[in-house]
Amino acid sequence: MCGIFGVRGGHDAAALVHLGLYSLQHRGQESAGIVAVDETGTARAHRSMGLVSEGLRGNALSELRGRLAIGHTRYSTAGSSTIENAQPVLVRFRGGYITLAHNGNIVNATELRRELEAEGSIFNSTMDSEVLVHRMARSHRARPEEQLADALDGVEGAFSLLVASGDTLMAARDPRGWRPLVIGSLGNAVVFASETCALDIVGATHVRDVRPGEIVIVDGEGMRAMQFGAPLEQRRCVFEYVYFARPDSRIFDGGSVDRARRALGRQLGRECPSPGADLVFGVPDSANAAALGYAEETGLPLELALIRNHYVGRTFIQPSQEGRDHKVKVKYNAVREVIDGKSVVMIDDSIVRGTTTRGLVALVRAAGAREVHMRIASPPVTGPCYYGIDTPSREELIAANLSVEEIGRHIGVDSLGYLSLDGMLAAVPGGPGGFCHACFSGDYPTPPPTDPDKLRFGCGC
Ligand code: AMP
Repeated sequence: MCGIFGVRGGHDAAALVHLGLYSLQHRGQESAGIVAVDETGTARAHRSMGLVSEGLRGNALSELRGRLAIGHTRYSTAGSSTIENAQPVLVRFRGGYITLAHNGNIVNATELRRELEAEGSIFNSTMDSEVLVHRMARSHRARPEEQLADALDGVEGAFSLLVASGDTLMAARDPRGWRPLVIGSLGNAVVFASETCALDIVGATHVRDVRPGEIVIVDGEGMRAMQFGAPLEQRRCVFEYVYFARPDSRIFDGGSVDRARRALGRQLGRECPSPGADLVFGVPDSANAAALGYAEETGLPLELALIRNHYVGRTFIQPSQEGRDHKVKVKYNAVREVIDGKSVVMIDDSIVRGTTTRGLVALVRAAGAREVHMRIASPPVTGPCYYGIDTPSREELIAANLSVEEIGRHIGVDSLGYLSLDGMLAAVPGGPGGFCHACFSGDYPTPPPTDPDKLRFGCGC
């Protein structure tokens, strides 16, 4: 999963992108990068591993001059976690350049890459995103947006993209609209961002979303839009509402992530009440809003029973299992004064591998809980995501291998309840139709990729 941010206009585009990326850090913590284009058409890149605050600063930033810039925060769901795979991609091309930042996963990347390699293309990275740049460079059409439309023809899967070439900045979203992408306005500048929280930080006003199947073009003539490809049934990622996006964002045509999570919590309270419990709390931060909704619905007092160390990143956003295990221990602690002797309800947004959850239950028991009832504000995750969330193999998904009862025993709770699929889809804004819920339901909108192993040479993020 990744965050993308772009600006055309204003004086120091890279400075705005830098700020915007801070607000998109939750979408990817492995690497961050900015490409800026100055008045002479020279494109400069700075990319580094780690957080925005760690890698993008000082001299590196001051060299990124110009009125056009795009940026990226990366969490690899495809392609290994190395600096070669940090984005934005930047290539020299016919005396100019193409730069691209991608959020999503291209399902037929393997086939597209084989085709290109058979015809002589050489790749620098192991990301799916690089195939798009090659396809653009091969287009014989004149305008950047026509070249981009050519490149996207036949590309299957999830992509929210920012692409710049010459003096033109473009934003595109796949025809099913899997990943969010919003347009903002800031004085004379046009801003694009994965989520509205990144518009807020730069003071831009949300104009509208980039529509599924649309390319929005910003150049010297202003802003215009064109559709590429045939319209397809909408498949917005429901997991963006459940877990991924920030609660202060509005995504998918203005849907509030905070409101969505509260509604999920209320629905969970209706479907899985916890009679006899003393209190409820959420696993911070992603389940806080759902816990609030659950408390509203059930009347249980909401407590702050778990404290999260904010200097440790998202537990799950660690490519290796070893990294994840270690971080569970340092990331949370339980408040004994709240928990001791009590029957508690612990709310989380989802269980994926079960590693974090099991560790948390142990913490809560060690702090003296008499009973622990776990409630999950989404259904069991039973299938991998091929569209940009990192749940790559069925073997790693606890709910693909164990029943709810068995999971409850494995994580050590007195009872475990999940929200139903229908309940989730009814709770989120704009539901119940038009969502991708393949990871919960097995209803995949595309055939699975022929090579889902992200480390072979698949996909971007
Ligand atoms: P676990 O018990 O190890 O499955 O971890 C569950 C925690 O991971 C939950 O608190 C979620 O907030 C978080 N989580 C769920 N899905 C994802 C994902 N795809 N990427 C990152 N974090 C996730």
